Amino acid sequence: MTDPRLRAAQQAVSDACRVCRHVQGEIAELRAELKDDRSPVTVADWASQAVVVMRLRELLGDEVVIGEEDASALRDDRASGLREHVLESVRLVRPDAGLDEVLDAIGWAGPTSDEAGSRAFWTLDPIDGTKGFLRGEQYAVSLGWIEDGQPRVGALGCPNLSPDFARPFDDPDAHGLIFSAVHDTGVVEVPADRPEADPVPLRRLERIDGDAARICQSVEKAHTNRSSTQQVLDHLGIETTPARLDSQAKYAVVARRQADAYMRMPSSPGYIERIWDHAAGSLVAQEAGATVTDIRGRRLDFGQGRGLEKNLGVVCAAPALHGPLIGAIAELGLDEPAGESK
Ligand code: AMP
Ligand code: MG
Repeated sequence: MTDPRLRAAQQAVSDACRVCRHVQGEIAELRAELKDDRSPVTVADWASQAVVVMRLRELLGDEVVIGEEDASALRDDRASGLREHVLESVRLVRPDAGLDEVLDAIGWAGPTSDEAGSRAFWTLDPIDGTKGFLRGEQYAVSLGWIEDGQPRVGALGCPNLSPDFARPFDDPDAHGLIFSAVHDTGVVEVPADRPEADPVPLRRLERIDGDAARICQSVEKAHTNRSSTQQVLDHLGIETTPARLDSQAKYAVVARRQADAYMRMPSSPGYIERIWDHAAGSLVAQEAGATVTDIRGRRLDFGQGRGLEKNLGVVCAAPALHGPLIGAIAELGLDEPAGESK
């Protein structure tokens, strides 16, 4: 694959995976030093966003990036300890980086980035699945290029995901994987720490036996409604215990045929999914042959600002299973926002 945006995205995500793995190794130390349980993820979030933006700007120029993080808190006088750790972490991949450059890069993708009216832009989740990151389990670095409301290029870094399907999701791999895709050209996989390695194309999803379906969902109860997922499975006579893992790695797990569906049934009234939580992942799954829609069967619309305002939840599944899942959701009246019923 020679798409320049794909190559830049793979490189940027690989840099970020390296930074995140390093910070993950320092969790105990950072917690003790910065005296805040969430500080490791804060350091990694900012450092990851910085290295991604720096690499994209270096390779592609000043394209719009809509990232999850904002640099303003890092500029605060009281944040000197955090700043130092962020800079140190960035220097792992950019030894010459200076503080101003790092703050500028983070801010480039912050809320003031020129998102309104952008027809084409990058969207970045520097660490998706922060709870998984803190538990030492699955998390992802997710970078997607959106054009006219649809992801066209995506790189999904899963620093703890093993190529070995037998390895439990809570047992982190030493290298991790990056899945990348360009619209209409399929998906490839490379080791997260060697993006220049020969890319391995994923085989396209094939038919599955309806009653043998394997499902995955969030670890966090607040992010998905487990009981409505179970109702759908019972309705279809699918006997399975859903696998649980954090982050968009779930999309990769479907793409590589380790699960047949990723279900994200809404669990919090009024919650709108964020674009960076689905851009790269949904493209990777779709390019592997999966069908990805919201729980009402509608295409995800990335052209509504920072949220998937027109969508509700997500169903990503092998084509033979997607229709039955959406049908069951509708028949059971579960296609309404959480907390409401027909
Ligand atoms: P996961 O790792 O799949 O559980 O998803 C992690 C993502 O869930 C985070 O990046 C958040 O943006 C998102 N999130 C936060 N609150 C909610 C919620 N109430 N419902 C669904 N997703 C949420
Ligand atoms: Mg996220």
